Amino acid sequence: MEQLELAIQEIRQALPGLELHENEPMAAHCSFKIGGPARALAVPQDVTSLCRLCYLLKKHELAPYMLGNGTNILFPDEGLPELFLISTAKLDRLFLLPDGAIYAEAGVSLSRLAGFAQQNGLKGLEFASGIPGSVGGGLIMNAGAYGGELKDVVESVVVQYLPEQCMYELSNEQCKFGYRTSLFQKTGGIVILSAVFRLEKGDGDAIAEKMRELNARRRDKQPLDLPSAGSAFKRPEGHYAAALIDEAGLKGYAIGGAQVSEKHAGFVVNRGGASSHDVHELMRHIRKTVYEHSGVALEPEMIILPPDFKLEDHGPQIPLHNVWGPGLNEQS
Ligand SMILES: Cc1cc2nc3c(=O)[nH]c(=O)nc-3n(C[C@H](O)[C@H](O)[C@H](O)COP(=O)(O)OP(=O)(O)OC[C@H]3O[C@@H](n4cnc5c(N)ncnc54)[C@H](O)[C@@H]3O)c2cc1C
Repeated sequence: MEQLELAIQEIRQALPGLELHENEPMAAHCSFKIGGPARALAVPQDVTSLCRLCYLLKKHELAPYMLGNGTNILFPDEGLPELFLISTAKLDRLFLLPDGAIYAEAGVSLSRLAGFAQQNGLKGLEFASGIPGSVGGGLIMNAGAYGGELKDVVESVVVQYLPEQCMYELSNEQCKFGYRTSLFQKTGGIVILSAVFRLEKGDGDAIAEKMRELNARRRDKQPLDLPSAGSAFKRPEGHYAAALIDEAGLKGYAIGGAQVSEKHAGFVVNRGGASSHDVHELMRHIRKTVYEHSGVALEPEMIILPPDFKLEDHGPQIPLHNVWGPGLNEQS
């Protein structure tokens, strides 16, 4: 705690132009609209100031918690008094490279990235146009939909590796993407700065039509009118989480303000005034009931903070980010 206070003071002096919010309510920074205040939330305007910020935090033996668009996170009502968060909202550079690949910084939204690809007659990112996350958050999760995943189109990723305070460029293979997972979830201390996407040439009108069709399917099936963090649980092998929850009779089931969506049982929605505790209780109840009904243990897809939080039943794996880990070279 003391280190965090000293770090905030030093950062204010060393980076006077930095947007830095103290005791910032996180409900305003996530799609679930849930969460108490974080001690500090910085919004660096470019990669250089982000790296300087990481350096100053490391001097105080602190690691930041990175925030993209906040569409896959459940923040605690109690807030995060011990965390320094960094938002990538202003890392928004997006352009074509001379060889036709797309360069995107971590804070570029996936919908803007997909739209940019379409405008340049490049196909392969249509699936991502309705995913509300950012490039950084999308790569951490290997976001995907309708048969596509970011791993299919990413050529390389540039990261800042916090323990060494240096940058690495990782190839697609080195990112070790899997279903809703990546190296970045298994190795702490990594900040995603930017990525290069390699796409195939296609017809702009056909790409736009495909995006319209997928987004219409999304609007038809998903409860986009209510706050949520997307799918609450990962797809278990050989099953669909939504079908298992529906078959267990839980569609519409609610605890406090948290409810299993009546439109899509895979979503837990905030139907008004939900607390993080309501969501925890509901998710525990879903896991227990589905396990009793079908023998399948569901694993949360959304990230539940603080980082050491665990839903007790059946020991789900909550990914831990942004803690010191072994060097990236040792991983590859
Ligand atoms: C309505 C709705 C629909 C959705 N549909 C889909 C879908 O179809 N497919 C799908 O895969 N997901 C879906 N999601 C979930 C979510 O949008 C994705 O997981 C997305 O990739 C998260 O991106 P984000 O920027 O919001 O990440 P955040 O929620 O901000 O962060 C997610 C994780 O990534 C880390 N992180 C973020 N940026 C960085 C960075 N630059 N460096 C290091 N770590 C970082 C955070 O620390 C956190 O651990 C949906 C969500 C909603 C609300």
